[in-house]
Amino acid sequence: MDESCDCGHESRTTSHTVNECSLRAFTGSVHDIHQAREEAVKWIEELDVVTL
Ligand SMILES: [Zn+2]
Repeated sequence: MDESCDCGHESRTTSHTVNECSLRAFTGSVHDIHQAREEAVKWIEELDVVTL
């Protein structure tokens, strides 16, 4: 089973995806995420990320 991220990171966690992933990192600031939370959630849900 391959649980590594597309970018090569060893684990494809939500935290990695949102905060670290060079391929998928959200381009907005934390403030933007809070301000557009529904949009951000939708963005996350559309990713093929395994959430815990
Ligand atoms: Zn990644």
